[in-house]
Amino acid sequence: MEKILNYINGEFKNPIQNQWIDNYNPSTGEIYSLIPNSSAEDVQTAYEAAEKAFLDWSETTLQQRSAILTKIASLLTESLELLAKAETMDNGKPLSLSTSVDIPRASSNFQFFANAITQFASEAHESVGQNAFNFTLRQPIGVVGCISPWNLPLYLFTWKIAPALAAGNTVVAKPSEITPMTAYLLGDICNKAGLPKGVLNIVHGLGKTTGQAIVEHPKIKAISFTGGTATGAHIARTAAPMFKKLSLELGGKNPNLIFADCDYDKMLETTLKSSFSNQGQICLCSSRIYVERPIYERFKTDFIAKTRNLKIGSPLDKETNIGALVSKAHLEKVKSYIDIAKEEGGTILCGGDYVTVENHKNGYYLQPTIIEVTDPNCRVTQEEIFGPVVTIMPFDTDDEALSLANNVRYGLSCTIWTNNLNRSMLLSKRIQSGIVWINTWMMRDLRTPFGGIKDSGIGREGGFEALRFFTEPKNICIQY
Ligand code: NAD
Repeated sequence: MEKILNYINGEFKNPIQNQWIDNYNPSTGEIYSLIPNSSAEDVQTAYEAAEKAFLDWSETTLQQRSAILTKIASLLTESLELLAKAETMDNGKPLSLSTSVDIPRASSNFQFFANAITQFASEAHESVGQNAFNFTLRQPIGVVGCISPWNLPLYLFTWKIAPALAAGNTVVAKPSEITPMTAYLLGDICNKAGLPKGVLNIVHGLGKTTGQAIVEHPKIKAISFTGGTATGAHIARTAAPMFKKLSLELGGKNPNLIFADCDYDKMLETTLKSSFSNQGQICLCSSRIYVERPIYERFKTDFIAKTRNLKIGSPLDKETNIGALVSKAHLEKVKSYIDIAKEEGGTILCGGDYVTVENHKNGYYLQPTIIEVTDPNCRVTQEEIFGPVVTIMPFDTDDEALSLANNVRYGLSCTIWTNNLNRSMLLSKRIQSGIVWINTWMMRDLRTPFGGIKDSGIGREGGFEALRFFTEPKNICIQY
């Protein structure tokens, strides 16, 4: 059986303690490769390689760094077909999605930061009347840790690694143990692109062993983490006493506010995507839909009809809209929320059951599910389900829509559908979330700050925010 290996100091290595985890193909339920469950010793080896490489990498010119990152970006694009298939096999997402979104975005992440680093400047302040100048260097931190989740595997892994490397750091990174394959393939691409040995090290394994060893390592001075809120809290507890820099991109329970004056057709098409893309397993998916009462019944009918039309099937099939959920455990978790909804008095308007796909009978498939709720405090509207399950509920006034939107512990993103400019401005200002989309969803400009408030995390990724996170400012004051 194929073995995924650690990528340390530019070489592929077995885990020192020779411990392995099974890697499943969610579309068939079969084990198809083995993943190292790396120990603290492996993390230490990766750290040592990164520490050594830092001396030279942090002194490379911006042009050199930019050229290598650009090369990685183009090699990712050249390997689109291979990587997209690998992502789909590992994650269960439709091949159409990994081909059009995941892999192109991984390439864009490298290209974006290859460009951005050439425009990232130090600041200067003249202390007028005191005969002094200040200038503020932005220096790389050293060895940094990047830990990513399974939902957008290579996309989110590279979203951290690219700015970390561009800023002159060296990296010890861990992808999710549930979807390690494309991170494994990235190692070879980095070698081909001429990334010096030890600049990027990829260590595979469970969160509680490998991830924990990265977070606990006293000399890894910054941790960029994307994943669940409970894991983020645990990481914060571990890292805070060591004064590590922390960027935490955590869970969400995003509202979709639909007003009667919206562009109805565009809203309906986009709401289908914001609800069920990637089987609802995108942190930005809008899982709480609130609809202004005059169009509630019409929306309900149309949304149910469109959802029923979505084709659930093998992720490799071109026609498939809904692939497999990422793991059996996750499938069971998502399904359990449908049962909770029934107990709580919710009405299942559509879906709600497992699906058996021809020739893939052990795969992890679930119908896209719409639940009508009456209590905004019930568990299905409060807790992150992270699957193809949305709730819908009517509202009457702007204030009610706002208070429903803000009525959760999370604050990642929000979508508002209205053609009323004043309303969209007022709501945007008062919504508790890091990202607001008006009359669109998941439109990304990589220069903009990305991240959440409340229990959705701390810090922002994207653009210069990411380069600021991965550097330490040092102010130098000179009097003349
Ligand atoms: P998770 O928290 O279980 O795992 C994320 C990563 O952390 C994995 O690599 C895991 O191995 C590692 N990990 C687990 N325990 C650890 C520990 N003690 N120390 C160090 N690392 C540890 O999350 P998941 O199930 O992989 O991903 C789904 C979650 O990610 C959802 O909550 C989703 O909302 C969130 N997410 C957030 C964003 C965002 O940008 N805010 C984006 C995507 C996903």
